[in-house]
Amino acid sequence: MIQVKAFAAYDAETPLKPFEFERKEVGPNQVQIEILYSGVCHSDIHTAKGDWGPAIYPLVPGHEIVGRIVKTGENVTKFSEGELAGVGCFVDSCRKCSSCLEGEEQFCEEGMTGTYNSYERGTTTPTYGGYSTTITVDQDYVLHVSEKLDLKGVAPLLCAGITTYSPLRYLKVGKGHKVAVLGLGGLGHMAVKFASSFGAEVTMLSTSPSKEADAKELGAHNFALITDPATMESLANSFDFIINTVSAKHDYNTYLNLLRKNGTMVIVGAPPAGEPLQAFTLIFKRRAIMGSLIGGIKETQEMLDYCAEHNITSDVEVIDMDYINTAYERMNKSDVKYRFVIDIASLKN
Ligand code: NAP
Ligand code: ZN
Ligand code: ZN
Repeated sequence: MIQVKAFAAYDAETPLKPFEFERKEVGPNQVQIEILYSGVCHSDIHTAKGDWGPAIYPLVPGHEIVGRIVKTGENVTKFSEGELAGVGCFVDSCRKCSSCLEGEEQFCEEGMTGTYNSYERGTTTPTYGGYSTTITVDQDYVLHVSEKLDLKGVAPLLCAGITTYSPLRYLKVGKGHKVAVLGLGGLGHMAVKFASSFGAEVTMLSTSPSKEADAKELGAHNFALITDPATMESLANSFDFIINTVSAKHDYNTYLNLLRKNGTMVIVGAPPAGEPLQAFTLIFKRRAIMGSLIGGIKETQEMLDYCAEHNITSDVEVIDMDYINTAYERMNKSDVKYRFVIDIASLKN
């Protein structure tokens, strides 16, 4: 067994604390990764705090993992020792349903195995995420990471990156499109980078006036304060697409009204509850609302390769492990620029 140091939530109320556990030795198809950086996603907070229902405690969050391979199983052909590697939101799936066969394992009909808050397939062994020193994962669920990019900024691509890349690609967003990004946090800042990189005209919709200059630097052409009613009125019927990344309860109808005819709002933010949807906000302009969940392994690799080619990384604030509870508090106040990333070396001391 491999001894692992970690930080865990022991319940929904108390702060995360140190936790030690064991992982199984690498299986024939697995690699062992020494974790170097782990991003902090708002989903970690929702899960740890029980926003989406009861969690499996002790819970070791973290699904934006980058590190170096330190061991490979005897059947591993895709990776070798010493290589950089990444792990995202899931570590297994059924591999035989139509979604898995189409490379969209996130929609596995039997349910994907989450990187944390899940059980290893067919067992009662909980999965533990990236707020830990090492992880073992089947090679088919591991991503190649370029040596060219700043590794700290790569970690958030494994969730925030793919979650915004995937719907923009699915909707073929590009030149001539007006895209609004709602909420400038981890997902939002990656949505701005990708949408502008794909050639769209991007407007940042935010509740935080202090983020305007950064939004423009990230690639937004316009910035609008959604707390100002006159601004909201002036933006009615403007956008082809809205990427909604908001983590807290809000009224979808308000933002649907900003879509022009045939416009689509993509829900990627996952607040635990919402306001009722009004039929007329959709009917009158043939508007659509759709959801999107991370991305499959194939598309995640495509996204990482796109980022390496176009020099795209996340803007991060690197923290020590024991800062995690403060980071959660700050994210709940929208005080994040624009992703916290844990330096896992701080766990080893
Ligand atoms: P984050 O970094 O905390 O950013 C969320 C942003 O939303 C805030 O910075 C803030 O931006 C805005 N916001 C917060 N409360 C708001 C409110 N009441 N009204 C309007 N805007 C508000 O969170 P994240 O990590 O990007 O995650 C965002 C959401 O996506 C979470 O719910 C997470 O669970 C979900 N998620 C979904 C997927 C998926 O596959 N669909 C994947 C990852 C995460 P401003 O300061 O600009 O207003
Ligand atoms: Zn996430
Ligand atoms: Zn499947």
